[in-house]
This record gives sequence, structure tokens and C-alpha cells, in this order.
Amino acid sequence: MENLLEVQDLHVSFSTYGGEVKAVRGVSFELKKGETLAIVGESGCGKSVTSNSIMRLIPSPPGKISNGSIRFKGRDLLKMKEKEMRTIRGVDISMIFQDPMTALNPTLTVGNQLKEGVKQHQKVSNSEAEKQALNIMDLVGIPNPKERMKQYPHQFSGGMRQRIVIAMALICEPELLIADEPTTALDVTIQAQILDLFHEIQHKTGVAIILITHDLGVVAKIANRIAVMYAGKIIERGTKREIFYEAEHPYTKGLLQSVPRLDLIEEHLTPIDGTPPDLFSPPVGCPFTARCPYAMEVCEKVYPATTHLGSSHQVDCWLQDERGRLVAQPIKQKL
Ligand code: SF4
Ligand code: MG
Repeated sequence: MENLLEVQDLHVSFSTYGGEVKAVRGVSFELKKGETLAIVGESGCGKSVTSNSIMRLIPSPPGKISNGSIRFKGRDLLKMKEKEMRTIRGVDISMIFQDPMTALNPTLTVGNQLKEGVKQHQKVSNSEAEKQALNIMDLVGIPNPKERMKQYPHQFSGGMRQRIVIAMALICEPELLIADEPTTALDVTIQAQILDLFHEIQHKTGVAIILITHDLGVVAKIANRIAVMYAGKIIERGTKREIFYEAEHPYTKGLLQSVPRLDLIEEHLTPIDGTPPDLFSPPVGCPFTARCPYAMEVCEKVYPATTHLGSSHQVDCWLQDERGRLVAQPIKQKL
């Protein structure tokens, strides 16, 4: 199947008083129609910067996309005029954020906001817009949509509000939905319901989803593929099964150990020690060296090449590289 989105060698930096922060350092990935890709990593790893780049929402200055291409249905979004980009944003590609309140207008009823969304992109009568708004409220599982259309955002619970935000994002039937930490602000039960909703929506509409999250646990249900980001790079990628059961990067393994598992009665959650490197002057070698229990001398000096462990599973780690094993000199004995 042909790719809906192709991100190639994306580099994004921000100039600050302290110098240039290299937030994204050569990220590439692709997404097929109807697929869900999860981009997972700690805060500051560059995952939101990556998704904001797709929407061309990087404020410039101080931000700058210094290299790369982002092809959506074959066309490079980075080469488009802003005017053209506006016809893509919210229509072909929609985005939802963590805090539902910022995405909704508190002074308009939910129904009016949805109807306005319809009318922004389609020339339709008021009754047709209303019909579409009702349908979409139904799709996202809001009970009594006719009554609730007349209410304001503050009259909804957090979970219901996030459903309305999802409805707003879907109203123009986008082909790609980018969800940046869509459930982080919600409690666990509601979180699970919203994730089920994504699953259901994808099934019904065929929309492709990029799910950005710091929590690997969140992606278990809905992701087809997972890309793990660390210090501005994708350090491991694979299918859900490959990441959950065959992860090879020590950072991915660390993330997995910090996910609560329902199938283990007595669980020992181990957070990863240390903090990510400073991206003012990113390390030349593997950025995980300072936190990695397996770090070798070579890790500090040279960034590991990508090792292909299978057609879909790739990892950037010297432990998987034969050349790394030949020159292996542990620099720590932390095991
Ligand atoms: Fe650890 Fe070296 Fe692999 Fe980096 S390349 S994750 S430091 S073993
Ligand atoms: Mg973020």
C-alpha cells in the first residue's frame, strides 16, 4: 500500500539565549493509510516537535526546520505556501492536544462550534451542518446529542470534552489525525474509553493516526507500529509485538519496565535512572550512553548505525551491531 505520509531526515532546532537547541535530529518514518503509528518517548525527546512540524506549527523564529521533507500524499508540506497549508490543516490533517479546554471556545455551544467547523470547509445549509454535527457527536459516543448540542464546553466532563475535541478534529473527515498526549489529562478509566474510541473511529472511518505519548502503556491497544524517540532521534521502531516482546534497545527496555502491567500481580516498576542529554550540544555518540547500563567505549564516540532486526524492526544500538561487539569495552559495570 502506498504511503500516506513520509517524513525524511527531519531536523528541527530552536534558537534560544543559551544557544541552539537541536530538538529533532534526523527523524524519518512513514505511515500508510488507516494505520496507527505511536511515537513514544520522555518529555523533551522531540516527539511533539516532530508532529508540530507535520502541521507546520513550528514558530519561526525561534524554531527552524533546517533539513528534511514531509510528504503527504506525495507532496512536500515543507515546500507549500502558508495559504496552501491552510487548506490541508484541519481538513486533510487534524490535530488534537492534551488539554481539551484550549481547543474549544468556552463562549459557544458545542453544537455551534461543530456546525461552524462543518461550514468552514463545506458550503452547506444550516440544517445540513446540524445533521453532520449530530452524526459526528454520535460517532464519538456522546449520549443525547440533540440536547447536548445546546450546551457549553464547561457543562461537559473532562472525558466528554475530549470526545468533543475529537469530534471537532474529525468533522472534515481528515485522512490523518495527529493526537498529542490525548489522554494524559484524563483519569485511567476515561483514558481507556478514549483509546477505545480512537480504535472504533479508525475502524469506521479509516483515518490514519499518529499518537504521541510518553506512556508506552497507552499505545498497547491501538498502535500498529511504534517508534521510540530519545534525544531527538528514533532509536528503535517496530510493530507493536516487536516493541513489546522483542525490544532490543536498552532505553526501550527501560520504558517497558516502567509501564504498569495488569497481568503481573506483584509488579516492580523501575524508572530509568538519570536524565536525557542536553540538546544544546548533543552527544556525538549514542545519546543514551550516560544512562545505559551496557554502555561501551564505542557508544560514547560514534553514533550507532541502524541495525535491521527484521523487515519492520530497526534499532540504533551498538549491542546489535557486529562491529560494536568486536570492539566492545564496557565503560561501566552497573549490571
Ligand atoms: Fe547503550 Fe551503547 Fe546501545 Fe547506546 S549504543 S543504548 S550506550 S549499548
Ligand atoms: Mg509534548
